[in-house]
Amino acid sequence: MGDLYALDFDGVLCDNCGETAISAVKAAKLRWPELFTTVDSSTEDWIVDQMQTVWPVVETGYETLLLVRLLLEIKIPLLQRSSVTKGLTVEGILETWSANRFYPGFPDALRFASSQLYIVTTKQGRFADALLRELAGVTIPPERIYALGSGPKVEVLKMLQKQPEHQGLTLHFVEDRLATLKNVIKEPELTGWNLYLVDWGYNTQKEREEAATYSRIHLLQLSDFTQKLK
Ligand SMILES: [Mg+2]
Repeated sequence: MGDLYALDFDGVLCDNCGETAISAVKAAKLRWPELFTTVDSSTEDWIVDQMQTVWPVVETGYETLLLVRLLLEIKIPLLQRSSVTKGLTVEGILETWSANRFYPGFPDALRFASSQLYIVTTKQGRFADALLRELAGVTIPPERIYALGSGPKVEVLKMLQKQPEHQGLTLHFVEDRLATLKNVIKEPELTGWNLYLVDWGYNTQKEREEAATYSRIHLLQLSDFTQKLK
């Protein structure tokens, strides 16, 4: 009957944390101008750089703003307004992780996919759409992009599986956040979904090891995935 893929965006299709880190620093400067009066450009560069390290903790955009503040307080303890960051280091926020910077094979996989594709993301739909067009040269119709404002991902999956035109399709949900997959496992209605944690996105080795203990979660490698999509 065919397959339906619900794909997360950041960390699955697209690695854009560098660009987003720069935007987060800009937003933090607007939000807390008083904190940035003594911050020089090398400190800003350091923050952008460190954002890439702490990226796996980010779920939605606004959290990047808080991370910028956290990093700033770590770098310049004098700026601390609370005890939240006392004794905290970048290493302490996250264990070291590695991630590929590019996810090759996607533009073609998306373009030639014979499966039904949906994007399910916590980023803004217009950004996902623009990045898909510009980076991948792919246009995904807006009704196939469930973005910020579409509700929790578990609700999006429930809605997708109920649609009459999806009956009989094999359902696949691909994510780079283990916590999101665990939320799906908790939902009795969603037992029909095959769940995948990608091994190239914004997750840690520890999370991948934990994922392996869940019988419902399959670890996915990039080349397998781009093959699967076609
Ligand atoms: Mg993601």
